[in-house]
Amino acid sequence: MDSLRRRLTGELVEPADPRYAELTAGFNAAITATPAAVVEARDPQDVVEAVTFAAGSGIPVAVQATGHGIADSLDGALLINTRRLDECVVHADGWARVGAGVRWQQVLDAAAPHGLAPLSGSAPGVGVVGYTTGGGLGPVGRTYGWASDRVRAAEIVTGEGVLRRVTAETEPDLFWAVRGGKGAVGIVTAMEFDLVRQERLHAGALYFAGADAATVLHRWREWSAGLPAEATTSVALLQLPPLPGVPEPLAGRFSVAVRFAWTGDPATGEATLAPLRAVATPLIDAVQVIPYAAIGMIHADPVDPMPVHETSDLLRELPAEAVDALLGVAGPDAGSPQVIVELRQLGGAFAVPGEHPSALDHRDAAFSLITIGVLVPPVAGAVAPHADEVSAALKPWSTGATLPNLGAAVGAERIARSYRPETLSRLVEVARRFDPSGVFTVGQVPVR
Ligand SMILES: Cc1cc2nc3c(=O)[nH]c(=O)nc-3n(C[C@H](O)[C@H](O)[C@H](O)COP(=O)(O)OP(=O)(O)OC[C@H]3O[C@@H](n4cnc5c(N)ncnc54)[C@H](O)[C@@H]3O)c2cc1C
Repeated sequence: MDSLRRRLTGELVEPADPRYAELTAGFNAAITATPAAVVEARDPQDVVEAVTFAAGSGIPVAVQATGHGIADSLDGALLINTRRLDECVVHADGWARVGAGVRWQQVLDAAAPHGLAPLSGSAPGVGVVGYTTGGGLGPVGRTYGWASDRVRAAEIVTGEGVLRRVTAETEPDLFWAVRGGKGAVGIVTAMEFDLVRQERLHAGALYFAGADAATVLHRWREWSAGLPAEATTSVALLQLPPLPGVPEPLAGRFSVAVRFAWTGDPATGEATLAPLRAVATPLIDAVQVIPYAAIGMIHADPVDPMPVHETSDLLRELPAEAVDALLGVAGPDAGSPQVIVELRQLGGAFAVPGEHPSALDHRDAAFSLITIGVLVPPVAGAVAPHADEVSAALKPWSTGATLPNLGAAVGAERIARSYRPETLSRLVEVARRFDPSGVFTVGQVPVR
């Protein structure tokens, strides 16, 4: 470790160091990461040094930017923390270059003065690179598609410790793999991607009482089926705890959130939402014209770490029977221990192939279904079995697949569900070619 330390511009932090806890902390407090050491990289050369050292010593390497996707304990690994790779440059002609440590809110704020916007996710605190390498399913995705399809170039340190600039022309295999394959083929140090011209959105959420759940869900199902691609929507069954930051009408009770983002003319968005608004009296109506940079208010995801259990499925369709099945297992009378059970409508631009082929599969799914439960007494023991019950109840309409970003992409079964067999074989082949000693085998890595 001392030989590595001497070669770094950044820090090498071992378990006895007071900074170790901060550098290994993740968003899911149920998982404690205990790598052998952490390299807090200051520049791409630090990543090269760390990977070269690990490959030569037979130590696996993991990468973390924000910890939002913490997935396993990383025992014995060398963790590369990228948070100091914080370059964020927005070009007025419509693209951005960011370092691997940048979070979405930084890009949102830098792009806004130019009338530009990145295809960020529901939570602006998530890291750009971790999100984008997993596809990136965002609140305006039915209009603009997947974040990973907007990537122009990535700079990647591959398993032999070589920093490569990867584009569709220079390194087609790596370019294919890094867009959907997460960290399978290397550690991204910087990424360049296109932005969209969108200053404002007509967007937000309608929150209804639990008593209206069946009416709202059935109406949402019918209404969403006819939406144009300017609209992206999701519905969430919520049981939010009475914690600071949770609005009083929602705290400690069952509620239903209908999220809506309209990228077209606001008046048409208003008219499009009107039938859903009229379905019941909302507890909170927070749909309005917002600056795009406030996109995080649509889902209002939690910002503090919690111990959670998460599952993710994809549905091929949502007939009325599927809504009844969901209400039966997770509705207001079901005794569900989940904090969130969410359906996101896909389709629109999500279903369109990107300009360049990539490792992101399952674009044909119609809905994404996730459950999130908090592992605290008295429900801690009930959360995981109940999440399985939710999956089982919706199984008749499930594709059997999932997305690499939603729920931790670790373990052979989860990885097999994230990719088609031919995609996984090609990811394995590309990963082996560029990582001959197999350093990238821990964390959210779809190749083991
Ligand atoms: C509150 C919340 C909301 C979310 N909302 C969405 C959403 O709307 N849509 C969506 O698609 N996903 C969403 N996600 C999932 C999120 O996109 C993934 O967990 C993503 O991996 C997080 O990236 P990170 O860098 O922030 O996390 P980290 O924990 O730092 O990294 C997670 C993984 O990302 C990969 N990665 C990170 N940095 C690099 C790098 N430099 N090079 C190569 N691989 C890297 C690795 O596989 C790593 O294990 C959400 C997650 C949370 C916790």
